[in-house]
Amino acid sequence: MISETKLQKYKDWIFRSSAYSMALSIIGIDKLTVAPPGGSAYRDERTAFLAGELFSIQTEPEIFAILAEMKDDEDLDGDTRRAAYLYWKHIRDISCIPKDEFVAADVLMNKSYDAWLKAKNEKDYSIFEPYLKQVIDIRKKFYSYRNSDTDLYDQMLDDFEPGMNREKYDAFFAALRERLVPLIRRITEAEQIDDAFMYQNYDPSTQKKFTDHLLAYLHFDSEWGYQNETEHPFTSWTCENDCRTTTKYLADNLSSAMFSTIHEVGHATYEHDISPAYDGMILSEGVSSGMHESQSRLFENYLGRTEAFWTTLYPVLQEHFPEQLKDVSMEKFISAMNVSVPSLVRTEADELTYPLHIMVRYEIEKGLFDGTIAPEDLEETWNRKYKEYLGVDVPDASKGILQDVHWSDGSFGYFPTYALGSAFAAQFMHAMRKDMDVDAALREGRFDLCVSWLKDHIHKYGCRYDAEEILRMATGEGFNVNYYLDYLEEKYSALYHL
Ligand code: ZN
Repeated sequence: MISETKLQKYKDWIFRSSAYSMALSIIGIDKLTVAPPGGSAYRDERTAFLAGELFSIQTEPEIFAILAEMKDDEDLDGDTRRAAYLYWKHIRDISCIPKDEFVAADVLMNKSYDAWLKAKNEKDYSIFEPYLKQVIDIRKKFYSYRNSDTDLYDQMLDDFEPGMNREKYDAFFAALRERLVPLIRRITEAEQIDDAFMYQNYDPSTQKKFTDHLLAYLHFDSEWGYQNETEHPFTSWTCENDCRTTTKYLADNLSSAMFSTIHEVGHATYEHDISPAYDGMILSEGVSSGMHESQSRLFENYLGRTEAFWTTLYPVLQEHFPEQLKDVSMEKFISAMNVSVPSLVRTEADELTYPLHIMVRYEIEKGLFDGTIAPEDLEETWNRKYKEYLGVDVPDASKGILQDVHWSDGSFGYFPTYALGSAFAAQFMHAMRKDMDVDAALREGRFDLCVSWLKDHIHKYGCRYDAEEILRMATGEGFNVNYYLDYLEEKYSALYHL
């Protein structure tokens, strides 16, 4: 049994780490939402210093030894052993990096983000390219310090989704390609749905007022949540009772802010619902990127795009936009919400063509790290793949290679989890529908009943179990891609009368 002194040191260490993590998280949210760009150089240097301090705390050799002892200590309870193991694994993977290089990387990532934003605004990939090259090099270097025999990109994939690798993702995307590509082709040839009314002028300040109703409907409570605006919507948090979401209002697009709001609240609700017993420690995080995305997509698509979800909300939306929506029936509105048309921008993509956007990014990342694609060929490769998979011509880099923020901080291996999360969500939804009448609950405005199911079967566990285990406990079987493919085929065949 581990000594009391060591256990106390471990608890103090968690507290010290969480204080720095909280500060860095708030500074990060501030940077991406309201902070004036002029101050970024000053802020970024100090942020890097704080990140360095956190790094020093996290990699204290004495703590690493204590964690190694704790993770195998049979006298400790399961929660504590699991937490010790996850901390130990994380520290093993970062402590091999020299601190000065770690801090320099933080400075680079901040500059790279600024360059990405500038490049996107000016539609000029060449502004971002030199930074991206440096980011790729630094990621390669950091992974090389691990001295692992595992392939570089496989390590990256595993960091975002433990247990996943190229072999599994290749099989996953092959299954998607086989059934979705013919379906998308049939839809392209079918009679199209008119959704032009969604792209009239929708005053952003009125959109914001409707968002307040939407947030209340979703039970996103100002006691623990706050929504802001940003360029690229995301969610961040410091603890279960401080979850921040963001959205972006477009004057000529009604659905963009609504669905990014529903999506991000899905992420925030997951974090909020994790057992309070885990607060401040590693167990109080969503278990993987795919699992996180499964919750946001479940909110956004599997619940948020149904007729039942809008039963009580649509009349409120019509009251906010009487001129634009007075002649639009509920049925027409729901069809428009679910239109499938191959498009340029991932975050605006419909449910059905969405995984093809991910496939483009997955193949590019694989190529970047096996050396078959060079950073200077990225823009051309991107445009070619979009033509090949989605049949669209990319007009400029802001709607192409520069549309996503992820590569600016070197989050390679992240994108595939978006598609995987959508597939997890289908399997959860299938299980939820067996347990309760989801549509009846939604028609009565009881979104909270769906949230309760998710909390009991998924959210409360945080990182206590692996994603695969949670999937098995909640649905009675391991991951099965067919729930996702069946759902899409059924839904879109009905919608387009195929
Ligand atoms: Zn998301």
